[in-house]
Amino acid sequence: MIGGFCTECDARVASFEGLDCCPACGTHSLPCPDDHQVTVSINWQELQVLVIWAENWQRQCRLGRTVYAIARRLQAQRPDRGPLTLAGQLGELAAQYPDAQVNDPELRQDIAEQTGQELGLVRPPKEAP
Ligand SMILES: [Zn+2]
Repeated sequence: MIGGFCTECDARVASFEGLDCCPACGTHSLPCPDDHQVTVSINWQELQVLVIWAENWQRQCRLGRTVYAIARRLQAQRPDRGPLTLAGQLGELAAQYPDAQVNDPELRQDIAEQTGQELGLVRPPKEAP
């Protein structure tokens, strides 16, 4: 009997037998069985590149929140390394620079959802009088 966890919400299950969805969140996405757990060596910057590309693809194609769930689990393994996602990195910048602005409304929404930081809309430059 192989257990594992839900890709979307991290809920643990002792066995996947008889399940057709996650008992905690109801997702039908593929779960993460414990026997697929691996340890790999990767540079944090390489991992940021992969996560940000996946994050942007997820946002562009409106594919749900799976990348954020995976990034959250990865970040929790190395909290000293900072955010893996663009939304997380921009949220840290927004905390330091309250006047920071982002033009993409969906990215602004992701930043707010992932970090709690609200960013303004980029305003067009003022025309000379
Ligand atoms: Zn779940």
